[in-house]
Amino acid sequence: MLVGSTVIMCAAASSSSHADLETILVSEQAIRRRLKKLGSEIKAVYGEEEIPLVAIIHCALLFAADLLREIPNPVRLDCIRVSSYRNETTSQGKPQLMHSLSLDVANRHVLLIDDILDTGKTLAMVVALIRKLSPASVKVCVLLDKKGRREVPFEADFVGFEIPDKFVVGYGLDFAERYRNLPCFGVLKPQLQNPPEWA
Ligand code: 5GP
Ligand code: MG
Repeated sequence: MLVGSTVIMCAAASSSSHADLETILVSEQAIRRRLKKLGSEIKAVYGEEEIPLVAIIHCALLFAADLLREIPNPVRLDCIRVSSYRNETTSQGKPQLMHSLSLDVANRHVLLIDDILDTGKTLAMVVALIRKLSPASVKVCVLLDKKGRREVPFEADFVGFEIPDKFVVGYGLDFAERYRNLPCFGVLKPQLQNPPEWA
């Protein structure tokens, strides 16, 4: 079940934005507003029960930290680590699991949190992995969804924003480990994507 996401079009970066961004896709204020609504949407589905949350780090770190505080339910938190992008702006092959789950999720209703749904390969792999641990259910919450990029069939249950097919940075999302601390989501200037000195 997908509860109402917001479709985003590109806007020109304002003069106050980070100098390396060509456009801002989602502002800090829009993220804050949407997170509050996501918290209510999650509560409406889970009722009063405790939610075992599994966040995929590093990219979902900021999202998970802020979303957690908008979910009124009791929660338990675990993180897993997956790598699929290196210092490139396109996906490099199969996602690898670098660090697995330690929370006992058997017979529990798990909520998996990730930053962005792109080809769908990462979340398809992680959900299959969690299902092997016999949870009662697994639902997925992503902040961004690039619907047009899917290579495997996968839909999230909760989506923050639908965005166009652009490589975005900020709010946890990196390019070569940079820009994670930007408070908004933006698109890098073309000359800063894959510069040889960052290889
Ligand atoms: P997938 O292609 O498997 O759906 O997504 C894999 C991962 O690639 C995402 O969780 C995210 O960390 C990363 N990714 C996908 N699109 C973008 C993007 O536009 N920018 C950044 N920085 N990472 C992305
Ligand atoms: Mg990710």
